[in-house]
Amino acid sequence: MDAEIIAVGSELLTPQHADTNSLYLTEKLNRLGILVRFKTIVGDSREDLAMVLRAGLARSPLVLLTGGLGPTEDDLTRDVVAEVLGRPLQEVPEIRQRIKERFRHLGRSMPENNLRQAQVPVGADWLENRNGTAPGIWIEHNHRLVVLLPGPPRELEPMFESVCMPRLASVAPGERIQTRIYKVVGLPESEVDQRIAPIYRGYQNPSTTILASLGTIEVHLRARAANDGEAEDLLTELGDKIELVLGDYVYSTKGESLEEIVGMYLVMRQKTVAVAESCTGGLLAERLTRVSGSSSYFLGGVVCYSNELKTKLAGVPAALLEAHGAVSKPVAQVLAEGVRARTGASIGVGITGIAGPSGGSAEKPVGLVIVALADERGTQVREFQFPGPRERIRHWASQMALEMIRRRIRD
Ligand code: ATP
Ligand code: MG
Repeated sequence: MDAEIIAVGSELLTPQHADTNSLYLTEKLNRLGILVRFKTIVGDSREDLAMVLRAGLARSPLVLLTGGLGPTEDDLTRDVVAEVLGRPLQEVPEIRQRIKERFRHLGRSMPENNLRQAQVPVGADWLENRNGTAPGIWIEHNHRLVVLLPGPPRELEPMFESVCMPRLASVAPGERIQTRIYKVVGLPESEVDQRIAPIYRGYQNPSTTILASLGTIEVHLRARAANDGEAEDLLTELGDKIELVLGDYVYSTKGESLEEIVGMYLVMRQKTVAVAESCTGGLLAERLTRVSGSSSYFLGGVVCYSNELKTKLAGVPAALLEAHGAVSKPVAQVLAEGVRARTGASIGVGITGIAGPSGGSAEKPVGLVIVALADERGTQVREFQFPGPRERIRHWASQMALEMIRRRIRD
């Protein structure tokens, strides 16, 4: 069974609001083996909504609409669906009662408007909303299933989970979809594809997609099968082969971020980290502390942007800065060793570079970043040349610093 989603709301067509409900719904539907073939975002306009709903009914056995179930004049979804399906709205006394109860419970008087929410198209079922007044609506119509859900995610999600999922599971065909994501760092996308294409080409199920995001290449596998166990087996069969050729460039298979993986290794090895950052301005520290529980391994660090602070806070000799410049291997090395010595961390990381767009030279171009890692075995220094704008360069610098930590403690 294929589905389509119609997100209703003029605010979703502005640059300030994104339609996140459809992302949530797609994930849940996929778990039930239901593929989403179309998504539409439409404003609060009767004609426009009627148009996309008609198109949806013409091509999709399951149409989910979110938003526009509220009590105000611009909440049109209920009316338009009733009109397009030719099923007039009818008040349901039980919903009316519940809405009244809800207001009494909150100690507020109920605007008459709210009773619009007690109306559902003739022959429809309604779905209880435990977190708001607008009930969901479930309509089976000419071999089509139309489901109306409230717009606010905190109302939609619990309703979908508790009421829609079980109902859909009983009408959807038995097929299930499972996905697995291999996250790769340190290999370019073309190299990843070169390694794995000869393998995945032999498989239609699971299907394989390669996505490049900032600093990470993701290999997505998606398997369809009669049940979850079989889908898992398919994923494992192809996934194991893919993992083998990508080797230790794969850092996660369960969706974890690089900083989470690094955190897990640090906990496992009982190591601590401190950082001295220049061109990343604290980004590495920020990423490390995104992970809950990072206090057990991240001691802290310094943002030493000026040469004076590199000397004062990380102990980089002024003469060294003078001789090699701030963006140099010797300085990166002393940043790492200095912050390690001053904090007592098992691992010290130093980052220095030119994030641009200005400040580059022929000898030291924009994008040149040097990362050093000091631990009890010595100090490793790596030089990178990252392309792109400032933000990208800074992100890559933090990414490679995390990757150096990961490799160092894995070994
Ligand atoms: P209400 O009773 O609150 O008016 P409603 O069902 O009429 O609910 P809308 O008025 O369309 O829903 O949207 C209410 C709020 O829900 C919006 O301001 C927005 O924050 C959120 N919302 C609506 N649609 C979406 C969506 N597709 N993705 C994410 N958030 C959404
Ligand atoms: Mg509304």
